[in-house]
Amino acid sequence: MSELARGLKCRLCGKEYPKQPLNFCTEDFGPLEVDYDYEAIAKAMRPEVVERRPFNMWRYRELLPIDGEPAVGPLVGGTPLAKARNLADALGVKNLWIKNDAVNFPTLSFKDRVVSVALSKACEFGFKTVGCASTGNLANSVAANAAQAGLESYIFVPADLESAKIIATSVYGAHVIGVQGTYDQVNRLCTQVAFKYGWGFVNINLRPYYAEGSKSMGFEIAEQLGWRVPQHIVCPMAGGSLIGKINKAFHELHRIGIIDRPKCKIFGAQAAGCNPITDAVKNGRENHKPVRKPNTIAKSLAIGDPADGFFAAKVMRDTGGWGEDVSDDDIADAMLLLARTEGIFAETAGGVTLAVARKLIQQGRIPRDEEIVLCVTGNGLKTQDAILGLVNKLTVIRPSLEEFEPVYKGGRAEPVEPALV
Ligand SMILES: *Cc1c(COP(=O)(O)O)cnc(C)c1O
Ligand SMILES: [Zn+2]
Repeated sequence: MSELARGLKCRLCGKEYPKQPLNFCTEDFGPLEVDYDYEAIAKAMRPEVVERRPFNMWRYRELLPIDGEPAVGPLVGGTPLAKARNLADALGVKNLWIKNDAVNFPTLSFKDRVVSVALSKACEFGFKTVGCASTGNLANSVAANAAQAGLESYIFVPADLESAKIIATSVYGAHVIGVQGTYDQVNRLCTQVAFKYGWGFVNINLRPYYAEGSKSMGFEIAEQLGWRVPQHIVCPMAGGSLIGKINKAFHELHRIGIIDRPKCKIFGAQAAGCNPITDAVKNGRENHKPVRKPNTIAKSLAIGDPADGFFAAKVMRDTGGWGEDVSDDDIADAMLLLARTEGIFAETAGGVTLAVARKLIQQGRIPRDEEIVLCVTGNGLKTQDAILGLVNKLTVIRPSLEEFEPVYKGGRAEPVEPALV
């Protein structure tokens, strides 16, 4: 398949580079992107070919930038697109789906998609040591997938990260380093480490390949709807990469002749405590102003100076979407709403997405009778602190009926005839 991904190309000046671990153009520091041979892909990647393959992200392999078989994460993706009827009723809309990456394999977030591509590529390049700068989910995924691939990993996180996310990284035997500082400071340190030691950092020197993994979420949504796109998508944003790649996925499927020209309005969601991209959109600016000190319970989205902020804002403008942000209270409240209507326990980022969707519906920016897909990207078991004060305390009793009865009082107790038992 090596011919299908031809090399890298600068997103600003178009300069071409051979495939290598490099994320910026040496002329103008513009971000590099994978350059594909779409004509060849259009011949190879027909719907009937895709549909015969196992339901995971690699069924779209022609549009993912690895040259051989995936060395890492062969089972990633293939998550449910659940029709959310109860939540639709609660929000007063007609057609609503949840793309549920809270159950992605193996580390319960959409980051497994990007990591499986980045680490498969790291193996092709011959790296033995890999790493990342992370707000949590990426740390979990790099650590787990590196362990399975037999790679050594160095993971850098802000030192104040949720303990669940730190434990779910250390458990895999990764070297985890808590850096006293914001994500942006962690990221700068990692850039120095990557180039000094020659390691493969998934979101730094391997970023062009890493980012392509996000497209698989868009491919799956289109296929699960019967090879078409919904009218509206709401997507959480941290570095601003996923939102652009979902849009790219739709346009690529059109380009290779699998779907009609996509008409999907794409909406970006952030927390009010770290909203550089939605702030830019709402104020009509092309470029975001970095948020120096992010302050929100949605730590997985707390990137103050997002690498793809400019492109994310452009996607919202170009598709006719919009960006919104919500308070921490609204985020926690939405986490409960999703759990209680659909039985899906999402992390704080899922709360951000749902709370923003609700706001956009109330604003009339998303019409109530049109189709909406919400991207739920991470699992609530990792961010339990966010809702600790909102859920009922455990009722403790001794193991006797007498103690249970007062608890049950007010319920629908109906004595059962002994003969019927
Ligand atoms: C990383 C992450 C995102 C956003 O990813 P970007 O591509 O950086 O915008 C969304 N949700 C969760 C749970 C994440 O961990
Ligand atoms: Zn360039």
